[in-house]
Amino acid sequence: MEDVIKGKLFVISGPSGAGKGTICAKLVELAQVVLSVSMTTRAPREHEQEGVSYYFVNKERFKEIISEDGFFEYAEVYGEYYGTLKKPVLDMLDKGCDVILEIDVNGAMQIREIVPDVVLVFIMPPSPEELRRRIEGRGTETPERIQKRLERSESEITQISKYDYCVVNDILDTAVDDALAIIRSESQSGSESRASFVSMGSCVKDSLSRAARLKLEKADADKIIEQYQKSSMKLN
Ligand code: ADP
Ligand code: 5GP
Repeated sequence: MEDVIKGKLFVISGPSGAGKGTICAKLVELAQVVLSVSMTTRAPREHEQEGVSYYFVNKERFKEIISEDGFFEYAEVYGEYYGTLKKPVLDMLDKGCDVILEIDVNGAMQIREIVPDVVLVFIMPPSPEELRRRIEGRGTETPERIQKRLERSESEITQISKYDYCVVNDILDTAVDDALAIIRSESQSGSESRASFVSMGSCVKDSLSRAARLKLEKADADKIIEQYQKSSMKLN
């Protein structure tokens, strides 16, 4: 798989409400990167458009595509299926585009098996209280679904050590700049320009040093998990 891939693959994961969708939309605007459109069996939200937010299908169709080996990865999340279609993503990578998959932790681990040099980025909410505020404030979920998402967020955060980078989405602009720095420092076009210039531009240098600070070491991951769990316990 590695030798056919010309573009760079990025995965963005994190609890529901952490701000993944908001950040990804900004990245598409500001960086030369394509966001993959997943397929799901969940119902569309009011503002969501077919083929833009997701491809919405029923479970029967989703299972058909599984049996045709049409998914790069797929997972069951909150009782619904979500999956990345293989062909469009491979086509974009083959053209040399850098591609972002906004997918859950299980999907991210499947992708790492297939593409070991994928860059995994975890978006952390600043606190459990703020996560709840954001999911509630988005106004897209019923109270039961909000509860399910909050419960799942605890176990998602314990998987953070499997990721390469962590971006805390407290101030949105800072989080977007952090994510941009990661993309610029890891992207295929970035590495080509770095290889061809004897002296790096200051923008590339800034991205490299900013991204280096966001790299996750095991000790950082443990600290983040511990801090988050403490705040959660205070809430419960
Ligand atoms: P996700 O895709 O991770 O489920 P969203 O991008 O839908 O999360 O964000 C959840 C809600 O939080 C949205 O209403 C969004 O506008 C808001 N939001 C995202 N980032 C921030 C931030 N840094 N500060 C305040 N609100 C935010
Ligand atoms: P939502 O219903 O809020 O759009 O997404 C719910 C969860 O499903 C999020 O964690 C999101 O990252 C994940 N998700 C969205 N698309 C995919 C996909 O194609 N594959 C996997 N594994 N997870 C996905």
